[in-house]
Parts: sequence; structure tokens; C-alpha cells
Amino acid sequence: MIVALEKLEFSKLNPRLLHLSQEEIIQLINRYYDGETVSKLIKDYKIKITASQLYSIFPPVKSEERCDYCEGQVVYPWGSKSWSERLSVNQKYCINCNHKSRSNCNCGKCRANRAIEEAEKLRIKIEEEKRKRAIIEETFVSKMENMHFEDNLTLEDRIYLAVILRSSLSEDMETIQPTLHNIQRMSPSHEFSKEILDTLIERDILIVDGFTSNLDAFEIKEEKISYQMFNVNYDLNILANDFEDDYKKVGLIKRLMYPDSNLFTKDFCYEMWKRVALEESKQYLLYQMKKVGYSFSPGEKTSKVFEYLVENFSVAQVYNIIYQAIAYSTARYQAGEINKIHAQNSVITSCEKRGERARAEGWSIKGYGRIKDLPESIISEVLFTSIMKISYLGFSEKPTSNF
Ligand SMILES: [Zn+2]
Ligand SMILES: [Zn+2]
Repeated sequence: MIVALEKLEFSKLNPRLLHLSQEEIIQLINRYYDGETVSKLIKDYKIKITASQLYSIFPPVKSEERCDYCEGQVVYPWGSKSWSERLSVNQKYCINCNHKSRSNCNCGKCRANRAIEEAEKLRIKIEEEKRKRAIIEETFVSKMENMHFEDNLTLEDRIYLAVILRSSLSEDMETIQPTLHNIQRMSPSHEFSKEILDTLIERDILIVDGFTSNLDAFEIKEEKISYQMFNVNYDLNILANDFEDDYKKVGLIKRLMYPDSNLFTKDFCYEMWKRVALEESKQYLLYQMKKVGYSFSPGEKTSKVFEYLVENFSVAQVYNIIYQAIAYSTARYQAGEINKIHAQNSVITSCEKRGERARAEGWSIKGYGRIKDLPESIISEVLFTSIMKISYLGFSEKPTSNF
């Protein structure tokens, strides 16, 4: 005997075996595992089933266990005779409620438990989000107290605001969203764009919009909030001159996007011109260095050299100086005269020497044009076209306070 009759669980006998007595069933099981042809057994016992499925309708075998949920009998189903084990011990289940004590059990009770767990997780998540949102709202709303009057904005505030608004104001003019995509258009460098945004945030002129910003952009650790500055929305914290009849700030926003050029002093424009020229020169330098496969990050020395160059040459001419310096260095590298590290380090020195020699010997350096990969940035448009009204001359002429 393969199994004692009393070990078999007959309570939920498959209907296809109902015409057989318990003795016949155990005899059938014995003959099956003794290796008799399954098609013959099906015929002998008049069972309507495909040969490969026969074992699956055998009444299961009682285990020593009781169900965790309903105290019902836990049973082992039979396996195919071609398998190494006759009983599928790891497929055990409760004959009453069908519970299988495994993590992926799909019985009614387990499904219900999982649903409760999910609901609880969701509830906790919603609670946490609410708490986080409240902290964020409170933090940034308190900054609104430091409101600025439109008239009191500095020239730097105004030019930076024009850049931010032109690059990042939403279509409906409701939110300011300086995304990572917008940052590339703002200024010639990531650092400068970040500085522009940072300056306005530091002065509480732009306030993080705690109500509409994406919560994932914020992190709260030990009461301190940090956030991804190019992934949140901002509000203007400026009181317009005409705030009474300009509730939606349309007039204010327009004035900030297209600042009145009469407000800007020559000194301010000259300093900002040099700054933009410096950033555009460094941008071109990095672009050309990368193009020839040099890895380079500009440091103190580079800044000093380029500050000198933009005081004496137009950006168009600095483009030429950079281009020639890199061409000369790569030629020497390719000729085997110097190694790659030496070649890339020599570029800055070479730019400096070219600039000094050109001045000393009175060379005229031909200006290069802008290139497609480095289009004019928004700060350059605001400064040269809107404020100074010199357009392309901002690129093709040497910075001067005499324009
Ligand atoms: Zn059960
Ligand atoms: Zn279950």
C-alpha cells in the first residue's frame, strides 16, 4: 500500500471520482504509481480526464498540520509519477479554506490581508506627504514676509529676473519653473545660471512655491529642508508699484521681463558685459577642448587669463585666440613633441601669450562668428539687445563703458 486509507482526505473529492468507492480510489492510486499505463487506468475506472492530469484529481494526503487561519486540515497534493517525489509537500494547502502557507498565497484571507496592508501603507504615505507638505508650506510662506518693493530692486535683481522669467515663466504666467532644460538657455554656463537663480532666492525675491512644487524634490532631515533648485516652482515676492489695479501681476511681470533700459547705468552694463563675455569665452574654451578630446576643468588661472582677455578683446576675437591655441597644442601633441596632459595644460598659457603679444605688437585679431552649438544665451539677449540696445556688438566688440 502506498498510503493508508485513513490518511487520504476525501472531504472534497473531485466529482470525476465520485462514482468510485474509497477502496477503488486507493487501488487506482497504487496502480498509477506502480507504473501501469495511464490510458488503461482511465478506461478501467471510467474517468473522464486526459492522461497527464489524472494524478491531480487524487484525494490529497493529510498532514500533521492544521491551518493557521481556520484550523482546517492541511493536506499534500499528489505529484506526477514522473516526478522524483510522489507528494508535493511544498504545495500543501488547507482543505477547508485553500490557504497555502506561502507568501504568494492567493486564498481569500491572504488577499484580504494584503489589501489591508496596502491600504495601511497608502494611508501612512498620505499622512507623511501631508506632514511634509505642511512643513514645506510653512517654511516658505514665512519668507514671504521679506517682500520687496518693485522700485527697490537692484539692477542686478532686474537683469537676473528678466533672465529667469524669459526662460522659465509658465505659459499661463502662474508659475516660474527653472528646469534643467531652461538652465541651459539662461546663460553660457551652468554655474552662472545657478548663481542667477541662487542670488534671487537668497534675497527672498523668488520664493519656493511650497503649494504646487513636486514633493519629491524636497528632503527634510533633522528639521532642515533641502530641495532641488531646478525641480521646484517659484513665486515672485515683489510688490508692484501698481499692485492695486494689477492683481494678477501682469503689468509687473511684463516690466520685469522687458526692463526699462533707462534704469541701467553705464558702469553696471560694462561690468555685466565683461561677466557675460568671460562666461561666453569659457564656454567656447570648454567646447573646443572637449571637441579635441581634452579633459579640462577651468580653475583660478583660467579665470584670471580670461578676465584679462575679455578686458582687451571682443568675445569674437577670444574665440579666435582659443581656436588657434588649441590647434597649435594639438598639432604639437600629434607631432609627438608633447604628451596629452602637457598639451591640454599648455592651452591656457598659449591663450595668455597670444593675447599679450597681440596687444604689444599691435596685431589685429580677426573676430570669429557665433557657432550653431553655442547659441546666444538669454542673459546676453537681455543685456545686449533689450538693455544696451547694441545686439551683436556685445559679441563682436570689446567690452567698454563707452557705448
Ligand atoms: Zn484554512
Ligand atoms: Zn492564504
